[in-house]
Amino acid sequence: MRRVLIVGGGTGGTMLANSLGRGFEVTVIADSLAHMFAPALLYVAFRNAQPTIVRNERRLLASHVRLIDRRATAIDLHARIVTTDDGERYAYDNLVVATGIGTDPAQIPGLGAVNREFGDYHSTIAQAQRVWRHLDGFTGGTIALGQSSPICKCPPSPIEGVLLAEELVRARGYRAATRIVFFTPFPRAYPAEAIDAVVAPILHARGIELMTFFDVAEIDSEKRVIRSIEGDDISYDLPIVIPPFVGASIAYEPAGVVDASRFVKCDKATLTIEGFEDAFAIGDATNVPTAKSGVTAHLQSKVVAARLRGRDVRFDGRTNCPMDLAGGRALFVVGSYAAPVVHQNPSRIKAFMKMSMAKIYWLSLRTLLDPFFDLYFRLTRPAPPGVQPGP
Ligand SMILES: Cc1cc2nc3c(=O)[nH]c(=O)nc-3n(C[C@H](O)[C@H](O)[C@H](O)COP(=O)(O)OP(=O)(O)OC[C@H]3O[C@@H](n4cnc5c(N)ncnc54)[C@H](O)[C@@H]3O)c2cc1C
Repeated sequence: MRRVLIVGGGTGGTMLANSLGRGFEVTVIADSLAHMFAPALLYVAFRNAQPTIVRNERRLLASHVRLIDRRATAIDLHARIVTTDDGERYAYDNLVVATGIGTDPAQIPGLGAVNREFGDYHSTIAQAQRVWRHLDGFTGGTIALGQSSPICKCPPSPIEGVLLAEELVRARGYRAATRIVFFTPFPRAYPAEAIDAVVAPILHARGIELMTFFDVAEIDSEKRVIRSIEGDDISYDLPIVIPPFVGASIAYEPAGVVDASRFVKCDKATLTIEGFEDAFAIGDATNVPTAKSGVTAHLQSKVVAARLRGRDVRFDGRTNCPMDLAGGRALFVVGSYAAPVVHQNPSRIKAFMKMSMAKIYWLSLRTLLDPFFDLYFRLTRPAPPGVQPGP
């Protein structure tokens, strides 16, 4: 039987393991048994949602999947060996790297201290709860919220955060005493112009100030100022700063298969790791030029499952990121390599769909909802310019 070794037991790794049935000997190496539904961190941070968002990875994997509860420390792509932190070595016929990304505040002077004090909503439940505690105690002043570098896990999440923060402060009666500044390294509020055309007027209507071309250079906690590389300053009382992201700390052989941010270099269509036809990378861990989102990890897991079965299926760059605009409305950022992101009207049904994901996520990991998702992705497939969408 072909030995498929999956490193990382998050969204992509778990879905792929469960998608591979007969004909494969599937092993998942996972550095934690605590599988978290990360999108819910938004609601822990901004709505004090109860953090019942973790399940045991062992219970999420199908019975045919072997689980190794260790951290992978080295991957030798020539020798086809993965080494774990206890020194064990695992041989494979096919490898799939699904190790996601983590936050790295140390890249920006002063950010580590700010994240430790005020929290963040892209790493742990404890950090998201820290954001909530500061928002909960906030009675006025300046909230500065934004992403510190261009790549962000879930690209809509910075906009979602600032709109939910504004909604909270308004509901609490402190809006008149509060200045809210949204900063972004991009030239507009949202990088895709069609979505920016929807989002920028909403920020304006809610009195949120927009600072574009703002790449965070350093944070001076004593003076309470965020400085940008471009030379702008934002004074803050409550900073909610999304840190830069990096790939997993794994020693690869050859070392050149990861870039400076430790994202795994792979073919954007076949998802094979550069120079290795027997090894793949999926999800946030890759350098593929598409949104780092659970939907991407899901779709890529299906591509790799098909390729492992010998079918020439290719990833088309499909994104489908929900964006909560507060006030009970949401939209989806939908695009692909060939089809630019197009305009979408916010609606209550899209907000309902986003909130439903928290419940159906666990079933989707078990691939039980595959027929439903296949249909959804077919019906909502974005069309290249000049081409009518169709199933
Ligand atoms: C606030 C927020 C909101 C979001 N909203 C959405 C949304 O609405 N829709 C959406 O689709 N996505 C959303 N996302 C993004 C989504 O959660 C991620 O993109 C998705 O989880 C990526 O899946 P993955 O499998 O690539 O990585 P992960 O799910 O992060 O899994 C990676 C796994 O690998 C493990 N690992 C890492 N290194 C090693 C190692 N050396 N050895 C063994 N195991 C290792 C990690 O512990 C982890 O379990 C959101 C994220 C955040 C933070």
